Amino acid sequence: MKHILMIGTGGTIASGRSTEGLMPELSTDQLLAFVPAVSSLCSIDSIQLFSLDSTDICPAHWLLLARQIRAQYDRYDGFVIAHGTDTMAYTAAALSYLIRGARKPIVLTGAQKPISFDSTDSKVNLTDAFRCACSDTLHGVLIVFNGKVILGTRARKTRTKSYEAFSSINYPYLAVLQDDCLLQYIENAFLPEPLFSDRLDDRVALLKLIPGVRTDLVKYMLQENDALILESFGVGGIPSYQGTQFLDVLNEGLDQGKTVVLTTQVANEGSNVGVYQVGRRLRACPQILEAFDMTTEAVVGKLMWILGQTADPAQIRALFYTPVANDILNYK
Ligand code: ASP
Repeated sequence: MKHILMIGTGGTIASGRSTEGLMPELSTDQLLAFVPAVSSLCSIDSIQLFSLDSTDICPAHWLLLARQIRAQYDRYDGFVIAHGTDTMAYTAAALSYLIRGARKPIVLTGAQKPISFDSTDSKVNLTDAFRCACSDTLHGVLIVFNGKVILGTRARKTRTKSYEAFSSINYPYLAVLQDDCLLQYIENAFLPEPLFSDRLDDRVALLKLIPGVRTDLVKYMLQENDALILESFGVGGIPSYQGTQFLDVLNEGLDQGKTVVLTTQVANEGSNVGVYQVGRRLRACPQILEAFDMTTEAVVGKLMWILGQTADPAQIRALFYTPVANDILNYK
């Protein structure tokens, strides 16, 4: 029988009603008491790492999770992390960089409705997560939610209320769960031994462009951070209504050693700045990186991971365009 470690972090799945609104209150052991049938799938040890609404989960918590899995990696066949849905895609992406090439499944799950509610997705999601954590053919960091298995670098929360909370962006689902069976379409690659990292640079910021966005905002965000992700429009472009100031500000930032990544605020199909004049003008700043088909969540985690290792622009570029867990496919 497989031996699985369950790690509790909070989230709706573990929440109960309070006078101030839903908040996490159940421990991992209390969650497990709602799904007694999982004991026929595997033997389970559980720990409560923290108990937070995932709105309060920060990069320091990602490091705690990665350290815990590293410390326990040899003792278990797989891992289930119960997590709030709001930032689960960020945690899954970050863990995909902090733990690369794991053969063992590291499965994040959660729910849109607390496990103690009469009508809830918690029990199905938790049971599915254990089924996936016991698999010999699913590897590395995954989100299991509403019967879908999503690669950790490809998930995004796309619905706030209904059970189909997550989508796989620019990548197929690895598997689905139907009638208690795992139907797997894709087997992802793994390394003989996982590569663990223990450093992140959290001075990474994201600016979603809006029509009329001011350059002083870009200037300020570059000043205060080591990297700035610009979520542009469509396939990608940089406004020029304030003369060339926008590009000038980006160039100043690059000269000061900042990293700039251009991505799109459109969920599907990624960027391609070569298409329009407003995008091609970025070629005046060849050091700017382009996210192509990566999710913003993955860009955030990847930049924090890369900048935790190096400040050298050539190395940053090389690492950024080196695929990790199929995070980027179309980058030529
Ligand atoms: N606010 C909750 C959280 O992210 C939402 C959820 O878990 O569904 O922790």
